[in-house]
Amino acid sequence: MTSGPLFPHLTYCTRCCIPETQEGVAFDELGICRACQSSEQKIHINWVEREAALRKILDDAKSRAGNNYDCIIPISGGKDSTYQLHVLTKIYGMKPLAVTFSHNWWSESGWYNLQNSLETFNVDHMVFTPNRALINRLAKNSVEKIGDVSWHDHGGVGSYPLQVAVKFKIPLLIWGESLAENSGRASYLDPVHKFDREYFIRQSAKVTAGEMAYDGVTERDMFPFTVPSQEEIDAANVWGIHLGDYLFWDDERQTEFLRDTYGWKETQMEGTYKRYKSVEDVMSGMHDFTCYLKRGYGRATEQASLDVRNGLLTRDEAFALIAEHDPEKPEALDYYLAITGQSEQEFYATMEKIRVPQMRGIDIPVKEKHAKNEERILPFPEQLIQKFNKTDSKRSYLNDL
Ligand SMILES: [Zn+2]
Repeated sequence: MTSGPLFPHLTYCTRCCIPETQEGVAFDELGICRACQSSEQKIHINWVEREAALRKILDDAKSRAGNNYDCIIPISGGKDSTYQLHVLTKIYGMKPLAVTFSHNWWSESGWYNLQNSLETFNVDHMVFTPNRALINRLAKNSVEKIGDVSWHDHGGVGSYPLQVAVKFKIPLLIWGESLAENSGRASYLDPVHKFDREYFIRQSAKVTAGEMAYDGVTERDMFPFTVPSQEEIDAANVWGIHLGDYLFWDDERQTEFLRDTYGWKETQMEGTYKRYKSVEDVMSGMHDFTCYLKRGYGRATEQASLDVRNGLLTRDEAFALIAEHDPEKPEALDYYLAITGQSEQEFYATMEKIRVPQMRGIDIPVKEKHAKNEERILPFPEQLIQKFNKTDSKRSYLNDL
């Protein structure tokens, strides 16, 4: 099979398929991206020492906890957070408080995975769900501001577990995959520990809650997305780790293990060929499609690049898969247009304005999907309401706030 990148004018990593437009990417003198460099570091790290360091951190947290929880595990019910629950409760005997910021775009299988993990690991759980009308309005503002539909999810996942940590004085937060695994934003040699107030804004949300307050969204609406003050974070001594910096991370093996041991469900994902990343979110296809329209690559590029690093695909095979999946117009676009009241032309015009400089004036191919997604692209709570109201009629999404 011969194939090449979709956008030959861009520089791509010489080893995988990551383009120069990925945020934070840096190529070394051989043209190799940071994620590929990390995958080499990963092989040479002494994981026995790292595991001993993890054990020490967890023992220390247990000894300080008293009657309080040992740690907070932010969970979505996805593959990573289910694996975090497995490792921390079954292997290390931690008593965590599970904390979920609900994006409220649950897929049916994602909702099952979340409930199944709570029942399986017997953990106490807190969830925060912003109201539907606010989510709908933020979806539009999010595309305008950051060229990505999911600001409320990034912002909420960054702020809500920190709010709970401060409020309940549970200082240790434990996330899953290392930031070094798929992105150029960190290195395995220098794991992230301390979380200042701006950490999550830099990592994913990009703009503050205050900057999202316009066009029918008020500052008051944004209160739940506000990160605690630096004084509050310092007073509670909040810090955190990524398990993937201490235990060798292998997406494929973990997925098989969770599926076979705990009945974790994979599902078809829009815009890619794998069935296990962000399965809990019906809008993940939009998240990835907007990245493609803005930066020239989507989820298939990230997953195929990881498969190349792991020796599962050749680079040519990866580029062929990317050409098939990244340009695919997701069904989730229809849902986005329904909840924002926009036309498809308006959406594409907004995306054109927010393209990175290297993609301006370039023809970005978009393909129609051949078949419907296996699961309905409608948030599961909405599906349930339709079922019990015995109606097929679309709800009016543009509720007044
Ligand atoms: Zn690379």
